[in-house]
Amino acid sequence: MHSSVKQASLTDFANQKANKVIGACVHCGFCLATCPTYQLLGDELDSPRGRIYLMQSALEDNQASFHTLKHLDSCLTCRSCETTCPSGVEYSQLLDIGRDFLETKRPFWQKNYRTLVRKFLTTPLLFKPVGYFFRHSGKVGSKLKVENSMRKVLLLGGCVQPTLAPNINHSIKNILAKLNIAVVEGSQSQCCGAIDQHLAASEEAIRKVKGNIDAWQGQLENGIEVILSSASGCGVMVKDYPSLFDKEDEYHAKALLVASHTQDIAEFLSKEDLSQLHLSEKNISYHEPCTMQHGQQLGGLVESLLGQFGYTQIPVTDSHLCCGSAGTYAIFQPKLAKELRSNKITHLTKSNPEMIVTSNIGCLMHLQKGSPVPVKHWVELLDG
Ligand code: SF4
Ligand code: SF4
Repeated sequence: MHSSVKQASLTDFANQKANKVIGACVHCGFCLATCPTYQLLGDELDSPRGRIYLMQSALEDNQASFHTLKHLDSCLTCRSCETTCPSGVEYSQLLDIGRDFLETKRPFWQKNYRTLVRKFLTTPLLFKPVGYFFRHSGKVGSKLKVENSMRKVLLLGGCVQPTLAPNINHSIKNILAKLNIAVVEGSQSQCCGAIDQHLAASEEAIRKVKGNIDAWQGQLENGIEVILSSASGCGVMVKDYPSLFDKEDEYHAKALLVASHTQDIAEFLSKEDLSQLHLSEKNISYHEPCTMQHGQQLGGLVESLLGQFGYTQIPVTDSHLCCGSAGTYAIFQPKLAKELRSNKITHLTKSNPEMIVTSNIGCLMHLQKGSPVPVKHWVELLDG
């Protein structure tokens, strides 16, 4: 479809990206069937195709209002539509541009509230003392000490995970110690930038992204083999770093280097010899985050790993649909988030599992609030 976005307030790079995405959409509507908000609300404007129309009118003809913004706000950025789309439309790239552009339509009080939440979540000094009271799992000490290891990995801290569930990265350290792999831990203040990026604070996101790229490039040059992520929401953001820079920008090549060395913990472990880790016959249910299956396109990897370890898993109905957590979505769209969680928990608990496991801290915390059984990060199961 023809697109002629040329907004003076946007960079050439953003204008080109918007035209590319809008131009790729052939309006076939296949994506409607797998869009969770279209399924719940039944309004074309709350579907991927409808939102693309809205963004096109806004960006081409300045036809936009607070009403337009509301339809963009209801989008989970789950990217289920990208997995479904036969034309390869990179919807989420357009969404970031559309959200940034339409931010001027947002009422003052909403802007302030969103800024407050964003700063709170991404500033460890503010988040730690409060987040501690919502802690999901405590810290366990490292059981094995690694000495003079030949292999070194950088484990991303994440801005909220070390406070809410320190057990996750401790389990990874224990597992990697058994494999004789040394772990260098990233700082909690090195936020990946996803929260800023998705809340229309792209300048702040880029500042963080550039800081991370500079730091991690240095660590890669000093012998770090892989940048490991245990939160799929952070992992997908880091893997998407190259898309944030024009090819002419010096950071594009650096971002490619960082992204190509970034792996989810499941990707990394799937290539290692795990024979010394313990087997189990527990009946569990796995919730695959959207950032894992749609964002990183790693669908089925964790289930296959857990299957190798003997865990029984029953296929989950509608496993492609979001649980409603979606970064800060559950904070700003509580009604829809609760409905999605309730549907998800019904499907996840159908086989009476002993626990639910997942790959992202946001999903974990959100699901636990509505789950009758414990919710954990799957990697904690391997640290027996
Ligand atoms: S499936 Fe792809 S091409 Fe078809 S309407 Fe949706 S985004 Fe456009
Ligand atoms: S990202 Fe998810 S909620 Fe948003 S339009 Fe695509 S499928 Fe629908």
